[in-house]
Amino acid sequence: MVSTLRRYVEQESPSDAPAAIAELVALITADFAGFSPRIRQHKLSGFGPGLQIDLPGPRRAPRLLLLGHLDTVYPLGTIRTMPWREQRGRLHGPGVFDMKAGIVQALFALKALLARSPLPCAVSLLLVPDEEVGSPASRQLTERLARDARAVLVLEPAAGPEGACKTARKGIARYTLRVSGVASHAGLDFERGASAIVEAACQVTAIAGLSRPTHGLTLNPGLIRGGTRPNVVAAEAEIVVDVRFLTARQAARVDAGIRKLRPHDPRCRLQLLGGVERPPFERSQATARLYRMAAQAAVQLGFPLAEAAVGGGSDGNFTAALGVPTLDGLGAVGDGAHAPGEFVLAREMPRRTALLAELMITLAAV
Ligand SMILES: [Zn+2]
Repeated sequence: MVSTLRRYVEQESPSDAPAAIAELVALITADFAGFSPRIRQHKLSGFGPGLQIDLPGPRRAPRLLLLGHLDTVYPLGTIRTMPWREQRGRLHGPGVFDMKAGIVQALFALKALLARSPLPCAVSLLLVPDEEVGSPASRQLTERLARDARAVLVLEPAAGPEGACKTARKGIARYTLRVSGVASHAGLDFERGASAIVEAACQVTAIAGLSRPTHGLTLNPGLIRGGTRPNVVAAEAEIVVDVRFLTARQAARVDAGIRKLRPHDPRCRLQLLGGVERPPFERSQATARLYRMAAQAAVQLGFPLAEAAVGGGSDGNFTAALGVPTLDGLGAVGDGAHAPGEFVLAREMPRRTALLAELMITLAAV
């Protein structure tokens, strides 16, 4: 497992490098070619290919969908400053935790199941190339495969050192508020100008004021830009806001609040772009039931499996929002996603793989 993982990590695969993603797809395809008769690539406009591996099961039994992503947040060349490294049971490298180890675990779990063939039910593994940028090209494909699945198991990293699975994730919205003012000379003609920057400053406090952190609702105006020169009253400014929420109701309330914003200076204009990018993954009865099955499977394997709610979104948000039973965080145990210290605990890989296989067997039987 470790040597497979190393090859996948050393084949870098940032979301914006379609050729590199295709190379990784070729590696995975070669590793699995002898096991599955049906491996196909999906062309996704602007990105590398998506990879779908289908394993047939008994006729008419519903399918399980394993879901993961091929892309990482690290630009090409990161491997030189952040090389593959094995140290004290920790495996380091770009994307090792989020989520190449999850891919390796899924492949080994499927191979383990195939060894006891026939498979208890049909399984599809879908790996998409654009998750780290919000899955703009693959979302429809993911939703199509999820719709007729009995359950979706997401191979994203587990939460915390004890490897909890994720039974709820916040939703994400992104807004850009464009402010147009009136340019003028700051010295000669100050009063004829209407500053887009001053207007944006008023708006930004109103936006931040919609946050309710104690209720899990946050608005982060994480990016602001505007103006051209100190001696020009600014004609343009822009605020980009990242919103995280627990429920669809919170998202609707924020959306209404942001759309109600009006300019303080009537000479300024506001234009709002954006909206919800990922619906919230709320802990449904079906997800709770899936979690209980996974926890039981873990106990059989001799370890406890906790559950956690997290702030980051994944493609599990899409499938959970469709009402398909979804369990996330079934991938690797480690820490430091999206950061130079990212690592996976090597000793956890076999039992996480066994857990995934056990869970598929349990699900096939119900
Ligand atoms: Zn991820």
